[in-house]
Amino acid sequence: MQVPAPVDYQRARSVEDAISLLERHGPEARLLAGGHSLLPMMKLRLAQPEFLIDIGDLGDLSYIREGPNEVTIGAMTRHAELLSSPVIARLFPIAIDAEKVIADPIVRNRGTVGGSLCQGDPSEDLSAVFAALGASVVIRGTGGTRVVSLDDFHAGPYSTVVGPAEILIEVKVPVVAGMGSAYEKVERRVGDWAIAAVGASITLSGSTIASARIGLAAVGVGDFRAKEAEAHLLGKEAGAETFAQAGAIAAQNCNPHADQRGPEDYKRHLVAELTQRALTRAHQRVLEGESK
Ligand SMILES: Cc1cc2nc3c(=O)[nH]c(=O)nc-3n(C[C@H](O)[C@H](O)[C@H](O)COP(=O)(O)OP(=O)(O)OC[C@H]3O[C@@H](n4cnc5c(N)ncnc54)[C@H](O)[C@@H]3O)c2cc1C
Repeated sequence: MQVPAPVDYQRARSVEDAISLLERHGPEARLLAGGHSLLPMMKLRLAQPEFLIDIGDLGDLSYIREGPNEVTIGAMTRHAELLSSPVIARLFPIAIDAEKVIADPIVRNRGTVGGSLCQGDPSEDLSAVFAALGASVVIRGTGGTRVVSLDDFHAGPYSTVVGPAEILIEVKVPVVAGMGSAYEKVERRVGDWAIAAVGASITLSGSTIASARIGLAAVGVGDFRAKEAEAHLLGKEAGAETFAQAGAIAAQNCNPHADQRGPEDYKRHLVAELTQRALTRAHQRVLEGESK
């Protein structure tokens, strides 16, 4: 049986309370959200915090709010809430595609958006989704509140720019008129982490591509975007040939490592294929939106 090391525990009553507890207990304190990453790591003794600050009571961090220019998603929003949100389904179907294949219902009922991002796992799906959507995050600490683009959020594997006395408050996702988006993932078995996954969002000007973003998961440490492939797409005719070219460029420029999920060349092959598929579905969704 795996048992965590002894740890002190306190429930935070508010965001300010959580920040002051983090500050008081120093770098050995950790926030506990859904616990689906932190608690398994503690059981394996891969993480040994001395003090857990449970933010499970901070219901005011659980929301999906639609504004005219952006949707804000509170850090304590559960995967299951994202999956069942009509706002997310209408504006960001990429997130629904991804949520359907993140873990299983038990994990999705407890795991949170903030916990997923802050865990900083290179295979984590929502980072690729939010990278493809051009999202940013709001981080609060004793020094105030700052907004960080998702492009600048990861600081390496299992590491982010969230400081030891800071808390991620929400994700801000811009609403872009006429945008289509989709997510494609290959996993070894249902509920597993990705062997490779790709998310894409595009807008059109006529039949040419006006903007494109491609998010990658599990094929690079801390680098969740395929910027060379995005640049190739701009101004090109949307269609199978262009999407195949973008897939080849993404595969060439990603940074996969061989592990128990597969060798490097297989992961590159998946990136090429999944990029094409994600772009094709995102394109279809743009056309479906135009015909409504
Ligand atoms: C069996 C299994 C399969 C899974 N499969 C997938 C998968 O396919 N794809 C995928 O993307 N994920 C997967 N996950 C991870 C899952 O999505 C978790 O929900 C997620 O990793 C962590 O969310 P949490 O709320 O449980 O965070 P916790 O475990 O509570 O916290 C994780 C880390 O984030 C920090 N943290 C949490 N919230 C905040 C905050 N608001 N501000 C600052 N720091 C914070 C904690 O201190 C901790 O360091 C899987 C998990 C399990 C157990």
